[in-house]
Amino acid sequence: MEKIPVFQLNDGNSIPSLGFGVFQIPNDGATYKAVLTALRMGYRHIDTAVAYFNEEEVGQAIKDSGIPREQIWVTSKLWLQDYAYEDAKKAIETSLTKLGLDYIDLYLIHQPYGQLTEAWTAMREAKEADKIKSIGVSNMTPKIWKKWQQQGMFDEVMPSVNQVEYNPYFQQMELRKLMAENHVTLEAWGPLGQGNVELFNEPLLQKIASKYHKNIGQIILRFEHQEGIIVFPKSVHEERIKSNQAIFDFELTSDEMDGIRSLDRGQGSHNPDAPGVQEMLLNAFDVHAND
Ligand code: NAD
Repeated sequence: MEKIPVFQLNDGNSIPSLGFGVFQIPNDGATYKAVLTALRMGYRHIDTAVAYFNEEEVGQAIKDSGIPREQIWVTSKLWLQDYAYEDAKKAIETSLTKLGLDYIDLYLIHQPYGQLTEAWTAMREAKEADKIKSIGVSNMTPKIWKKWQQQGMFDEVMPSVNQVEYNPYFQQMELRKLMAENHVTLEAWGPLGQGNVELFNEPLLQKIASKYHKNIGQIILRFEHQEGIIVFPKSVHEERIKSNQAIFDFELTSDEMDGIRSLDRGQGSHNPDAPGVQEMLLNAFDVHAND
């Protein structure tokens, strides 16, 4: 088991550059099992969200792992329904309770619509109170980022990360330039293209994989790591959980990096700028259904 390198964020905190994502893993024992497996295999960074409905099991697995709290990085995300100031404050407390933690390492505004400045104020205050160590945003395209930046949302505290869709077919070139200017680290959601079969059959990736005796997933994740992007692939299968983190014992050459860069198609599966996305997402997840 190789040690997972850390990246330093613009607020000075160090985040493990590779973690474990739990989107769509149910809260029926499966999340508990997957997170405990990941922690035992050496992962020290878990990415969850209120809208994944599995914070309790993430927290229970962390507790039962016996690993000291300060050695594990936990990210969660505020859902769209809770961006009004008082709602956001309450939602942060609920996340802390569900996770069973005194603090959360990173909290994100999950979707960039609605009363963002109110949510951001509540998150800034929670950071000041040490309930959250780092705060960030997610799904901000260049257009959305510029809009909120111009309105002064980030004047007090700059987001430490922007978590967006990213994989070799969608390399976010424009956004990355903008984030670099602001010293904001990119986190990739769907770093494996959410299992995209076409991506896993790319001849270039297959060729590189056989050279290093690695699998395609490892080549993709290694490429992203060398690009300076934080990744947290998801899997419920022990073999994949194990192999997805075994990417720190080899290095892609600059030619190989250029080759994979050329796979970029400049477009992903989700377009946050499209009309109607906010409504679509609000209809998809109701985090207060059981209140
Ligand atoms: P992913 O790219 O991690 O792909 C996961 C899928 O890829 C798995 O379900 C499995 O089918 C397949 N897979 C995993 N390992 C593999 C391997 N070694 N070989 C072949 N196939 C493999 O997609 P994801 O889960 O959507 O994204 C990762 C994490 O990002 C999520 O779990 C979540 O934490 C986060 N996320 C955030 C947002 C957001 O809006 N902020 C959206 C989606 C996901």
